[in-house]
Amino acid sequence: MSDASKSHGRKSIRATLKPRELMVDRPELSRAWTAQIITLFPQAFPGILGESLTGKALKDGLWQLRTIDLRLFGDGKHRNVDDTPAGGGAGMVLRADVVGRAIEQAQGTARGRMPILYLSPRGRRFDQPMAQALAACDGVTLLCGRFEGVDQRVLDHYGIEEVSLGDFVLTGGEIAAQAMLDACIRLRPGVLGNAVSAVEESFSNGLLEHPQYTRPAEWKGLPIPEVLTSGHHERITEWRQAQAEALTRDRRPDLWAAHAARPRKP
Ligand code: SAH
Repeated sequence: MSDASKSHGRKSIRATLKPRELMVDRPELSRAWTAQIITLFPQAFPGILGESLTGKALKDGLWQLRTIDLRLFGDGKHRNVDDTPAGGGAGMVLRADVVGRAIEQAQGTARGRMPILYLSPRGRRFDQPMAQALAACDGVTLLCGRFEGVDQRVLDHYGIEEVSLGDFVLTGGEIAAQAMLDACIRLRPGVLGNAVSAVEESFSNGLLEHPQYTRPAEWKGLPIPEVLTSGHHERITEWRQAQAEALTRDRRPDLWAAHAARPRKP
């Protein structure tokens, strides 16, 4: 492993170790689900992924994170990574040669089935089935753009698929990468405390989730729906299903149409 890439792995020695400090390559984790991130901002990782369930899973070695610092592949004394767009126009474009060197480094450390994706507003919209497909791979390599994005030849040459977080433009791919990784990692075995919750939540059955309530039983004069406190499990299941269907029909006609067209279980 060259100096350009850093790994975040399992904590085993100091209980005070911060996620950012978990940067040693650990051979015993070589088979863990692996995220490789090509970025100008490696210090932004693991970011929020170092917290809560994804952070605990990182420390426990259920997944590992390797950042590849694009700057270190830059040109000349100043390690330039970008240049002005061919044909003119505003902004800067990440250079093909620089990004290409970083991708080749990432390819050298990839293993098994590990797709390489470019975060991009032009990409296919990320969704739960994509998260499930990626979680079933050995990991993923994510290329984070900045400025006006990357030279098109890089995407063509390496056959890189573009994936979008949604129809809006971010200043860089890093937040999108963290959002996508979060969605994948929580589907990995052992990451969620209660494995059932990944089965019942929004999108997993093609519907939005029913409303949730907890204590207090009454808040600002508003009670919890009576059925939920009845202890009658069959009625609760029926109520939740009806709520999920009504919500989906109301808010997401697209999902509802797809749900209604699905073949029914016998
Ligand atoms: N000029 C580009 C936008 C560049 S934004 C265009 O109009 O398509 C800079 C970088 O932010 C992109 O290279 C991409 O990596 C990231 N980015 C911006 N919006 C995104 C989105 N909706 N999903 C995923 N990545 C995004």
